[in-house]
Amino acid sequence: MKLAAFEVDGRTGLARVEGDELAVLHEGEPGAALLSVIEGRSDATAPALRRIRLDDVRLLPPAVSSRATILCVGKNYHAHAKEFFGSGFDSTGREEVPTQPVIFGKTGSCLVGKGAEVRASLDPTGSVDYEGELALVIGKKAQQVSRKDAYDCIFGYTIFNDVTSRELQKRHNQWLIGKSLDTFGPLGPWIVTSDEIGDVSALELLTKINGEVRQQAKVADLVFDIPTLIETLTATMTLQPGDIIATGTPAGVGIGFQPPRFLKKGDRMEVSISGIGTLSNPVV
Ligand code: MG
Repeated sequence: MKLAAFEVDGRTGLARVEGDELAVLHEGEPGAALLSVIEGRSDATAPALRRIRLDDVRLLPPAVSSRATILCVGKNYHAHAKEFFGSGFDSTGREEVPTQPVIFGKTGSCLVGKGAEVRASLDPTGSVDYEGELALVIGKKAQQVSRKDAYDCIFGYTIFNDVTSRELQKRHNQWLIGKSLDTFGPLGPWIVTSDEIGDVSALELLTKINGEVRQQAKVADLVFDIPTLIETLTATMTLQPGDIIATGTPAGVGIGFQPPRFLKKGDRMEVSISGIGTLSNPVV
């Protein structure tokens, strides 16, 4: 099942995606309705209240709140870890490929949906970069979860573009400021429930900028796989339903080029993952 948050004619809601239509499940604020579905308090297989053409709506980020917890993983594909380490922008600077997962946060306030403008002009340093990523959505309260039980905690999967100001990421040492500029968190286009995904490691990610392929990788290439990430995080912190974990970006980001190829007004970003869809956003 695919679940989408949407807005049409000034009204928001939560819907099941069925082909090129939305089967509306809830009218009103979509975040609380999504959380209710994740927690099993409402039935996402219920009959549609009404149907809308997908083309007629604006998709919103499929998150439980604009205060959602977003945990991200840095340097989690080998080739990207090397390109970042060698780029001059890696303020962690200690090791090329990490020996423990590198975890950082992004604020929920940066989330935007498919099609929303990413405002590169908010970065005074002009060093905006893209990072196509697989994201997972936690399905239940998770504490001290072992590798073998990790997938039981996952409600579904979506796509994240971890848009970053490289200069701010470097300048402030900690990455939060450089990663959390308003609109720097495209998420979507929807959540695909884990039962529909099957073997997540077989998924393939493709990022295009203005139609040019920049990133291409299999989820199987992660340095720290999804069970390891969940085991590591929940060893000491409690994950909540609706928490988002962005699993890291593969090689091919703008700073992997010499000179770096930063985003500029008019660029179009597209991140696709097999079995999920395409998250496209214009840069302004
Ligand atoms: Mg990232």
